[in-house]
Amino acid sequence: KTFDQADLHPVMKENIRLAGYAQPTPVQTLSIPIVTGGKDLMACAQTGSGKTAAFLLPSLSGLFGRAKELAQPRPAPFEMRSFKAEPLILIIAPTRELCSQIFDECRKFTYRSSLRPCAVYGGADTLSQIRQLERGCDVLAASPGRLMDFVERGKVGLNRVKYLVLDEADRMLDMGFEPIIRALVLKRGLNPERQTLMYSATFPRAIRKLARDFLRPDYLFLK
Ligand code: AMP
Repeated sequence: KTFDQADLHPVMKENIRLAGYAQPTPVQTLSIPIVTGGKDLMACAQTGSGKTAAFLLPSLSGLFGRAKELAQPRPAPFEMRSFKAEPLILIIAPTRELCSQIFDECRKFTYRSSLRPCAVYGGADTLSQIRQLERGCDVLAASPGRLMDFVERGKVGLNRVKYLVLDEADRMLDMGFEPIIRALVLKRGLNPERQTLMYSATFPRAIRKLARDFLRPDYLFLK
């Protein structure tokens, strides 16, 4: 299997080549056609399996054809105060480390596109993260608490989200984030037309319940 055979935008194939990825990992081989085919997905994936690229490659690729028209313009200086970031891809991940790893991976694959990645997480200065959001935020990797904080302050809006990803979902539940995640996804205007992808290392009952509540009924399950 190679990336050439995958149904990905030519710009994405070029970015993959530049990143030096020769062959897709198993979770990438299985995820990419499901995501490009428009289906929701619940996938079993461990750290190191290449799960980040498994959701970034097909979701970014899906936007590339329309990236110019979709990308949010940077605000003019006089609009900064009222600026609200409206990401097209939202990735919710449990920790600061994971959010910045996703951001790094995202930078490789948004190269040569007009889409701008961004990361926000707890334990870091809020004001500098707001400045970052203002520089452009088409793809956002966020930890649950900080994301809720920005949504409540009107700095991040969720109704343009085309792809929602929950990364390390089991770990987020272990850390007690379930109420925040449920509130974000179900009560905060998150676009109901979105495609949703969940990645988890384990599948306890609470994760299966979350999948039933967040994913469309015809979602695919990758074990
Ligand atoms: P992840 O499981 O997403 O944390 O990825 C683990 C590491 O593997 C990261 O450093 C990625 O940059 C790298 N990686 C992911 N997919 C590939 C691939 N197809 N070929 C080579 N390296 C990869």
